[in-house]
Amino acid sequence: MASILIDQFTGRTLLGSALVIVATTVCIYFFLGRSKAKKDTANRATKNSNEEGKKLKGKLPVESFEKSETEVGTGSQSVAPLSVNQAQMNQKYHRTFKLIKKDQISHNVQLFRFELPQEECLDLPIGRHLKVSTTIDQKQVSRSYTPISLPTARGYFELLIKVYEKGQMSRFMHSLKVGDTAQVLCPVGSFTYVPNEWKHIAMLAGGSGITPMLQVIRAITANPEDHTRVTLIYSNHTEEDILLKDVLDNLAESFPQQVRIVYTVSEPSPQWKGLTGRITASTIQETIGKADKVLICGPVGFNKAMIENLEGLGYSEEMIYKF
Ligand SMILES: Cc1cc2nc3c(=O)[nH]c(=O)nc-3n(C[C@H](O)[C@H](O)[C@H](O)COP(=O)(O)OP(=O)(O)OC[C@H]3O[C@@H](n4cnc5c(N)ncnc54)[C@H](O)[C@@H]3O)c2cc1C
Repeated sequence: MASILIDQFTGRTLLGSALVIVATTVCIYFFLGRSKAKKDTANRATKNSNEEGKKLKGKLPVESFEKSETEVGTGSQSVAPLSVNQAQMNQKYHRTFKLIKKDQISHNVQLFRFELPQEECLDLPIGRHLKVSTTIDQKQVSRSYTPISLPTARGYFELLIKVYEKGQMSRFMHSLKVGDTAQVLCPVGSFTYVPNEWKHIAMLAGGSGITPMLQVIRAITANPEDHTRVTLIYSNHTEEDILLKDVLDNLAESFPQQVRIVYTVSEPSPQWKGLTGRITASTIQETIGKADKVLICGPVGFNKAMIENLEGLGYSEEMIYKF
């Protein structure tokens, strides 16, 4: 009787132990797999961020792009911590931000760093931008800007602004001093980037219209699950006018299978090796081939010309998005 009890007891114990061992092994395997995938994603994001930072040294103030203690990742949703704004991400809000740093990047380009409350990040959804507003001659003026700081940078965000001699907002921004404030509406726009929604995105950017493109390219390259290919044609008057060239070149070098960038200038120096002249329908045809989505951002005349080019090439209205 006693031996049957022991046998029964031992039998149950052995079966129980076997189940516990199998369950534990499965859990450990699952956990290790997940943390490896997470680590790979974080490494890719950190690589992106650090390499961009290195390449920018000597061009823009280094602290603008080097990973600071408060900065996490490069915008990959999988590594980004939750922002305090996350809940209201698609809800528009007006806020006043204090200018805490201002740097002259070139004769007509300035970098503005605005303060965010300590643990906060702007966390714009990819594809959205913000609007700065002010009153000039009793009229409200507002203009769109896409921050160039990483969306997950905590405690600040940065705008890179080209100052036009007759530009209303850019002259207002130029006049701001550290300690002054600016009124901002956020988030703005109707384009939301969804990973892998399109196989090949074409981007046509003119002058300061490069910043929304950079935001999308960074999001694609920071996400190992995103296989979208991008071809960007970036048009400027001269080589000196090309904004963020080192950052763009670094992304193209680091992700050659996914990112291709072609520059064109209308007033080339004898040393210039890129394309020359404005972007025409044949430039698009020869450089891009066929894309399933085209993003456009530039001055009014540029946008109009690009839409005409694309329509001539058979792109439908739904395939084109103008920021
Ligand atoms: C989604 C989005 C993001 C943007 N992000 C940025 C950014 O990060 N940084 C930035 O500097 N700008 C950016 N812009 C452009 C910005 O919104 C303004 O158009 C720009 O700052 C000029 O405004 P302004 O009031 O100074 O000039 P305006 O008073 O509107 O224009 C005055 C004159 O300036 C010239 N001009 C104006 N804009 C341009 C231009 N883009 N190219 C060539 N000449 C021009 C024209 O000759 C124009 O007649 C973005 C635009 C969009 C739609």
